[in-house]
Amino acid sequence: MAFIQTGDATTPTAPVRTQLMPYSDDQLLPISALEHLLYCPRQCALIHIERVWAENALTVQGTLAHDRAHQPGLESRRDLRVSRALSLRSARLGLAGVADVVEWHRQQSDGDGGVALPGTAGRWLPWPVEYKRGRLRSERSFEVQLCAQALCLEEMLGVPVPAGALYGGASHQRCEVHFDAALRSETATAAAELHAMIAVGQTPPAVWSPKCRACSLLELCLPRLAVSGSARRYLDHALRNDPGTENSAP
Ligand code: SF4
Repeated sequence: MAFIQTGDATTPTAPVRTQLMPYSDDQLLPISALEHLLYCPRQCALIHIERVWAENALTVQGTLAHDRAHQPGLESRRDLRVSRALSLRSARLGLAGVADVVEWHRQQSDGDGGVALPGTAGRWLPWPVEYKRGRLRSERSFEVQLCAQALCLEEMLGVPVPAGALYGGASHQRCEVHFDAALRSETATAAAELHAMIAVGQTPPAVWSPKCRACSLLELCLPRLAVSGSARRYLDHALRNDPGTENSAP
């Protein structure tokens, strides 16, 4: 079994391979899992393999920010259209999700790229915008998640999507992200690693790092105990051996 280092924990994976055939619909994985993978592979496995989820103050704030952004619809201004809750998919990367916001910027001329929108003149360049709670901070995982949305749009629309933006809900900061070759490559690699990890179905061991303090799964993961493998198996074992539980031996 191969082990890859993505973030702070060592992840057991099947060998990461380049997907030659497009993924089918039932193989698509959530775009949001890329952020979890890059934040911590163990967090990603706990959520997407073991189906463990715990809300903390940060995830609740994030959910509220997304709920506000995820009111479906299309807004219209002179040189800007705004789509909310737009479904995305990429058979090449094996990803699917919902974009918080996609802005459509009217281009000066038809040669500037973009697509035609029904009922409008000219061409419109798509810009994915991802809403984040609180103040924006420099997180590569945010940029990878946004880039994955752009790659989905490119595959769906057949036009280049050169840039997008991250938006900090509490601070109202907006930061442009340009999808250069390095970010595109990192995003495709992360998608392949995500598929490899899900295919193996094993949870990597816990490795304590400062980011654990903000992790919503801290109480389940117990990184200071260096728990290895499945958190669910560890908790079952701990409960069976806890003299305070009904199932424990007398
Ligand atoms: S507590 Fe730390 S090791 Fe555990 S899932 Fe969260 S970030 Fe990863």
